[in-house]
Amino acid sequence: MPHPSDPSSMLRPDFSIAGGDGHHGVAPSLGHAPSEAAHAGYRREDHYDDISTDLIGRSVKRILESVGEDAEREGLLQTPERVAKAYQFLTQGYAQDPRAILTKALFKEDYNEMILVKDIEVFSLCEHHMLPFFGKAHVAYIPNGQIVGLSKIPRIVDVFARRLQVQERLTMQIRDAIQDVLNPQGVAVVIEANHMCMVMRGVQKQGSSTSTSSMSGAFMENPATREEFMRMIR
Ligand SMILES: [Zn+2]
Repeated sequence: MPHPSDPSSMLRPDFSIAGGDGHHGVAPSLGHAPSEAAHAGYRREDHYDDISTDLIGRSVKRILESVGEDAEREGLLQTPERVAKAYQFLTQGYAQDPRAILTKALFKEDYNEMILVKDIEVFSLCEHHMLPFFGKAHVAYIPNGQIVGLSKIPRIVDVFARRLQVQERLTMQIRDAIQDVLNPQGVAVVIEANHMCMVMRGVQKQGSSTSTSSMSGAFMENPATREEFMRMIR
């Protein structure tokens, strides 16, 4: 398992579609793609929105020229299009509805203990610099008559992470979506992440990370429950 501070951990297999090698067979769904993507929740599409690709691409070309590059040299010719597609991938969460994803996977169950999904990979973009922050999320809830399919928890983490974010809001949005849809006895979310905008500019020391937490219900009111959660994610 790659450590969050290891830049190679950003090179997930599904990120390589942004390489623009012409093979779109594994291309994921798009944020600004047609409306069916929103209804599909998480379905992966193998096309990009041409208007968005064109608009973003033109802007990227301007950035290249503005930093003193020759946008016409061979290595950069396809860069605007590649960046445009990468950004559509990285912001596809805007077109996805996390509450709908959870609602579709609810099951009645009389299980009353904590359910914890830990070490969920998080890749997001900070809204201040549009640079990556990434790390791990730990999400727990205590049901109240209904549970949700376990795979849906990492899925909604992705939906919220694939938008421009601040870590604090990302943490709360995950908590609130689960709280709203499942109405559980409580939800706890902890995210530990490294922010490239801080690491690359020397503001954050290598190896340090930022932790945020957001709790509701039993996790807020009952110290023993909260401590059990914190012990389990350590
Ligand atoms: Zn930033």
